Amino acid sequence: MLKIENLHARVEGKEILKGLSLTVNAGEVHAIMGPNGAGKSTLGNVLSGRDGYEVTAGTVTYNGIDLLALAPEARAAAGVFLAFQYPVEIPGVNNTYFLRAAFNAQRKGRGEKELDSMQFLKLVREKLKIMQISDELLHRAVNEGFSGGEKKRNEIFQMAVLEPQLAILDETDSGLDIDALKQVAQGVNTLRSPDRAFLMITHYQRLLDYVVPDFVHVLADGRIVESGDKSLALKLEEHGYAGIAASHPADP
Ligand code: ADP
Ligand code: MG
Ligand code: MG
Repeated sequence: MLKIENLHARVEGKEILKGLSLTVNAGEVHAIMGPNGAGKSTLGNVLSGRDGYEVTAGTVTYNGIDLLALAPEARAAAGVFLAFQYPVEIPGVNNTYFLRAAFNAQRKGRGEKELDSMQFLKLVREKLKIMQISDELLHRAVNEGFSGGEKKRNEIFQMAVLEPQLAILDETDSGLDIDALKQVAQGVNTLRSPDRAFLMITHYQRLLDYVVPDFVHVLADGRIVESGDKSLALKLEEHGYAGIAASHPADP
Protein backbone atom coordinates (compact mmCIF):
# COMPACT_ATOMS: atom_id res chain seq x y z
CA MET A 1 0.00 0.00 0.00
CA LEU A 2 2.73 2.45 1.00
CA LYS A 3 6.34 2.38 -0.12
CA ILE A 4 8.66 5.13 1.06
CA GLU A 5 12.13 5.07 -0.44
CA ASN A 6 15.10 7.20 0.54
CA LEU A 7 12.89 10.11 1.59
CA HIS A 8 14.65 13.38 2.31
CA ALA A 9 12.65 16.38 3.50
CA ARG A 10 13.35 19.87 4.73
CA VAL A 11 11.55 22.19 7.08
CA GLU A 12 12.51 25.86 6.96
CA GLY A 13 15.65 24.98 5.02
CA LYS A 14 16.80 22.40 7.54
CA GLU A 15 17.04 18.76 6.50
CA ILE A 16 14.93 16.66 8.89
CA LEU A 17 14.28 13.41 7.02
CA LYS A 18 17.55 12.00 5.77
CA GLY A 19 16.91 8.93 3.67
CA LEU A 20 13.90 7.31 5.28
CA SER A 21 12.61 4.04 3.81
CA LEU A 22 9.54 2.12 4.94
CA THR A 23 7.07 -0.33 3.40
CA VAL A 24 3.56 -0.78 4.78
CA ASN A 25 1.12 -3.40 3.50
CA ALA A 26 -2.66 -3.35 3.80
CA GLY A 27 -3.87 -4.72 7.12
CA GLU A 28 -0.67 -3.93 8.99
CA VAL A 29 -0.12 -1.75 12.03
CA HIS A 30 3.31 -0.14 12.16
CA ALA A 31 4.51 1.73 15.22
CA ILE A 32 7.06 4.47 14.66
CA MET A 33 8.99 5.28 17.80
CA GLY A 34 11.94 7.54 18.39
CA PRO A 35 13.42 10.34 20.44
CA ASN A 36 12.07 13.87 20.45
CA GLY A 37 13.03 15.80 17.33
CA ALA A 38 13.82 12.66 15.32
CA GLY A 39 11.41 13.66 12.55
CA LYS A 40 8.35 11.54 13.44
CA SER A 41 5.82 14.35 13.07
CA THR A 42 7.67 15.58 9.99
CA LEU A 43 7.08 12.18 8.40
CA GLY A 44 3.33 12.40 9.10
CA ASN A 45 3.20 15.93 7.77
CA VAL A 46 5.10 15.07 4.60
CA LEU A 47 2.79 12.12 3.93
CA SER A 48 -0.34 14.22 4.39
CA GLY A 49 1.09 17.01 2.22
CA ARG A 50 1.20 19.74 4.82
CA ASP A 51 2.49 23.15 3.74
CA GLY A 52 6.07 24.03 4.54
CA TYR A 53 7.53 20.54 4.20
CA GLU A 54 9.82 20.30 1.20
CA VAL A 55 10.75 16.90 -0.20
CA THR A 56 14.23 17.09 -1.69
CA ALA A 57 14.80 13.45 -2.64
CA GLY A 58 13.17 10.04 -2.59
CA THR A 59 9.77 8.63 -3.50
CA VAL A 60 6.49 7.75 -1.82
CA THR A 61 4.23 5.33 -3.68
CA TYR A 62 0.70 4.80 -2.38
CA ASN A 63 -1.44 2.14 -4.07
CA GLY A 64 0.85 2.39 -7.06
CA ILE A 65 0.60 6.15 -7.47
CA ASP A 66 3.06 8.92 -6.66
CA LEU A 67 1.62 10.27 -3.40
CA LEU A 68 3.91 13.31 -3.37
CA ALA A 69 2.43 14.53 -6.66
CA LEU A 70 -1.05 14.80 -5.10
CA ALA A 71 -2.43 17.91 -3.40
CA PRO A 72 -3.36 17.40 0.28
CA GLU A 73 -7.10 17.22 -0.54
CA ALA A 74 -6.43 14.58 -3.20
CA ARG A 75 -4.46 12.55 -0.66
CA ALA A 76 -7.38 12.73 1.75
CA ALA A 77 -9.76 11.69 -1.03
CA ALA A 78 -7.43 8.78 -1.77
CA GLY A 79 -7.85 7.63 1.83
CA VAL A 80 -4.89 9.11 3.69
CA PHE A 81 -5.79 10.39 7.15
CA LEU A 82 -3.54 12.22 9.58
CA ALA A 83 -4.56 12.74 13.18
CA PHE A 84 -2.54 15.57 14.59
CA GLN A 85 -0.35 15.53 17.63
CA TYR A 86 -1.95 18.82 18.68
CA PRO A 87 -5.52 18.92 17.36
CA VAL A 88 -6.72 22.39 16.46
CA GLU A 89 -9.66 24.10 18.11
CA ILE A 90 -12.16 25.75 15.79
CA PRO A 91 -14.36 27.89 18.03
CA GLY A 92 -17.89 28.43 16.81
CA VAL A 93 -17.77 25.62 14.25
CA ASN A 94 -20.00 22.72 15.19
CA ASN A 95 -18.18 19.43 15.27
CA THR A 96 -20.78 17.55 13.20
CA TYR A 97 -20.81 20.31 10.60
CA PHE A 98 -17.02 20.22 10.36
CA LEU A 99 -16.98 16.46 10.06
CA ARG A 100 -19.59 16.46 7.31
CA ALA A 101 -17.61 19.06 5.38
CA ALA A 102 -14.49 16.86 5.60
CA PHE A 103 -16.50 13.77 4.72
CA ASN A 104 -18.17 15.41 1.71
CA ALA A 105 -14.90 16.93 0.48
CA GLN A 106 -13.50 13.42 0.44
CA ARG A 107 -16.55 12.05 -1.43
CA LYS A 108 -16.37 14.88 -3.94
CA GLY A 109 -12.68 14.18 -4.53
CA ARG A 110 -13.64 10.61 -5.38
CA GLY A 111 -16.41 11.72 -7.69
CA GLU A 112 -19.07 10.40 -5.29
CA LYS A 113 -22.34 12.03 -4.30
CA GLU A 114 -22.29 14.17 -1.16
CA LEU A 115 -24.51 13.27 1.78
CA ASP A 116 -27.13 15.71 3.03
CA SER A 117 -27.39 16.43 6.75
CA MET A 118 -30.02 13.73 7.37
CA GLN A 119 -28.04 11.05 5.58
CA PHE A 120 -24.88 12.10 7.34
CA LEU A 121 -26.55 12.06 10.74
CA LYS A 122 -27.64 8.48 10.12
CA LEU A 123 -24.05 7.52 9.30
CA VAL A 124 -22.76 9.35 12.38
CA ARG A 125 -25.23 7.47 14.59
CA GLU A 126 -24.06 4.14 13.21
CA LYS A 127 -20.42 5.05 13.79
CA LEU A 128 -21.09 6.25 17.34
CA LYS A 129 -22.66 2.90 18.08
CA ILE A 130 -19.83 0.87 16.55
CA MET A 131 -17.21 2.98 18.31
CA GLN A 132 -19.15 3.06 21.60
CA ILE A 133 -18.79 6.81 21.85
CA SER A 134 -21.47 9.10 23.30
CA ASP A 135 -22.91 11.82 21.04
CA GLU A 136 -22.03 14.55 23.52
CA LEU A 137 -18.89 15.72 21.67
CA LEU A 138 -20.77 16.17 18.41
CA HIS A 139 -22.85 19.06 19.64
CA ARG A 140 -19.87 21.12 20.70
CA ALA A 141 -17.52 23.31 18.65
CA VAL A 142 -14.52 21.51 17.15
CA ASN A 143 -12.18 20.64 20.01
CA GLU A 144 -13.18 23.81 21.91
CA GLY A 145 -12.76 23.20 25.60
CA PHE A 146 -12.17 19.52 24.97
CA SER A 147 -9.91 17.76 27.43
CA GLY A 148 -6.86 15.97 26.03
CA GLY A 149 -8.76 12.70 26.17
CA GLU A 150 -11.82 14.17 24.44
CA LYS A 151 -9.70 15.58 21.61
CA LYS A 152 -8.11 12.24 20.99
CA ARG A 153 -11.44 10.44 21.19
CA ASN A 154 -12.78 12.94 18.68
CA GLU A 155 -9.88 12.18 16.34
CA ILE A 156 -10.63 8.49 16.52
CA PHE A 157 -14.26 9.28 15.77
CA GLN A 158 -13.22 11.42 12.75
CA MET A 159 -11.20 8.47 11.58
CA ALA A 160 -14.17 6.11 11.98
CA VAL A 161 -16.34 8.41 9.86
CA LEU A 162 -13.73 9.09 7.17
CA GLU A 163 -12.78 5.41 6.85
CA PRO A 164 -9.20 5.97 5.71
CA GLN A 165 -7.11 3.31 4.03
CA LEU A 166 -3.96 4.67 5.55
CA ALA A 167 -4.36 6.18 9.00
CA ILE A 168 -1.45 8.09 10.49
CA LEU A 169 -1.79 8.76 14.20
CA ASP A 170 0.75 11.16 15.64
CA GLU A 171 1.14 10.70 19.37
CA THR A 172 -2.53 9.97 19.79
CA ASP A 173 -1.56 8.63 23.19
CA SER A 174 0.32 11.62 24.57
CA GLY A 175 -1.14 13.21 27.66
CA LEU A 176 -3.86 10.61 28.12
CA ASP A 177 -4.78 9.01 31.38
CA ILE A 178 -5.09 5.25 31.36
CA ASP A 179 -8.87 5.14 30.77
CA ALA A 180 -8.66 7.54 27.83
CA LEU A 181 -5.70 5.60 26.45
CA LYS A 182 -7.70 2.38 26.59
CA GLN A 183 -10.62 4.04 24.82
CA VAL A 184 -8.38 5.32 22.03
CA ALA A 185 -6.77 1.90 21.72
CA GLN A 186 -10.16 0.21 21.61
CA GLY A 187 -11.16 2.62 18.83
CA VAL A 188 -8.06 1.79 16.81
CA ASN A 189 -8.58 -1.92 17.36
CA THR A 190 -12.20 -1.64 16.20
CA LEU A 191 -11.01 0.05 13.01
CA ARG A 192 -8.26 -2.45 12.24
CA SER A 193 -9.14 -4.30 9.06
CA PRO A 194 -7.44 -6.28 6.29
CA ASP A 195 -7.65 -3.35 3.88
CA ARG A 196 -6.61 -0.60 6.27
CA ALA A 197 -3.10 0.18 7.47
CA PHE A 198 -1.99 2.24 10.46
CA LEU A 199 1.15 4.23 11.10
CA MET A 200 1.15 4.88 14.82
CA ILE A 201 3.70 7.44 15.84
CA THR A 202 4.34 7.21 19.53
CA HIS A 203 6.94 8.29 22.00
CA TYR A 204 6.08 5.70 24.60
CA GLN A 205 5.57 1.98 24.72
CA ARG A 206 2.37 2.00 26.70
CA LEU A 207 -0.11 2.47 23.83
CA LEU A 208 1.40 -0.66 22.30
CA ASP A 209 0.22 -2.71 25.29
CA TYR A 210 -3.30 -2.11 23.99
CA VAL A 211 -2.79 -1.84 20.23
CA VAL A 212 -0.36 -4.60 19.38
CA PRO A 213 1.62 -3.57 16.29
CA ASP A 214 2.79 -5.93 13.57
CA PHE A 215 6.03 -3.97 13.24
CA VAL A 216 7.94 -1.48 15.33
CA HIS A 217 10.45 0.93 13.80
CA VAL A 218 12.88 3.28 15.43
CA LEU A 219 13.18 6.66 13.75
CA ALA A 220 16.35 8.48 14.77
CA ASP A 221 17.94 11.47 13.08
CA GLY A 222 15.62 11.33 10.09
CA ARG A 223 15.93 7.66 9.21
CA ILE A 224 14.54 4.29 10.25
CA VAL A 225 17.52 2.80 12.06
CA GLU A 226 15.97 -0.38 13.40
CA SER A 227 12.85 -2.47 12.75
CA GLY A 228 11.40 -5.41 14.55
CA ASP A 229 8.25 -6.78 16.11
CA LYS A 230 6.57 -5.62 19.31
CA SER A 231 9.45 -6.89 21.42
CA LEU A 232 11.55 -4.01 20.02
CA ALA A 233 9.23 -1.56 21.79
CA LEU A 234 9.80 -3.32 25.10
CA LYS A 235 13.54 -3.26 24.52
CA LEU A 236 13.36 0.49 23.90
CA GLU A 237 11.35 1.02 27.04
CA GLU A 238 14.04 -0.75 29.00
CA HIS A 239 17.19 0.66 27.39
CA GLY A 240 16.03 3.97 25.91
CA TYR A 241 16.87 5.34 22.49
CA ALA A 242 20.41 6.44 23.19
CA GLY A 243 22.10 3.11 22.47
CA ILE A 244 20.18 2.52 19.26
CA ALA A 245 20.70 5.98 17.82
CA ALA A 246 24.41 5.96 18.70
CA SER A 247 24.98 2.65 16.93
CA HIS A 248 23.54 4.05 13.68
CA PRO A 249 25.26 7.40 13.06
CA ALA A 250 23.79 9.46 10.22
CA ASP A 251 25.74 9.63 7.00
CA PRO A 252 28.15 12.57 7.00
P1 ADP B 1 9.42 14.48 16.45
O1 ADP B 1 7.99 14.43 16.03
O2 ADP B 1 10.15 13.21 16.17
O3 ADP B 1 9.61 14.92 17.86
P2 ADP B 1 9.56 16.63 14.52
O4 ADP B 1 9.32 16.00 13.20
O5 ADP B 1 8.44 17.37 15.14
O6 ADP B 1 10.16 15.55 15.52
O7 ADP B 1 10.77 17.63 14.41
C1 ADP B 1 12.02 17.29 13.87
C2 ADP B 1 12.89 18.51 13.80
O8 ADP B 1 12.34 19.41 12.85
C3 ADP B 1 13.01 19.27 15.11
O9 ADP B 1 14.34 19.69 15.21
C4 ADP B 1 12.06 20.41 14.91
O10 ADP B 1 12.51 21.52 15.65
C5 ADP B 1 12.12 20.67 13.45
N1 ADP B 1 10.84 21.17 12.92
C6 ADP B 1 9.72 20.45 12.75
N2 ADP B 1 8.72 21.21 12.27
C7 ADP B 1 9.22 22.44 12.15
C8 ADP B 1 8.71 23.70 11.68
N3 ADP B 1 7.43 23.80 11.25
N4 ADP B 1 9.54 24.75 11.69
C9 ADP B 1 10.82 24.63 12.11
N5 ADP B 1 11.37 23.51 12.54
C10 ADP B 1 10.59 22.42 12.56
MG1 MG C 1 8.09 15.74 19.38
MG1 MG D 1 6.22 14.78 16.98
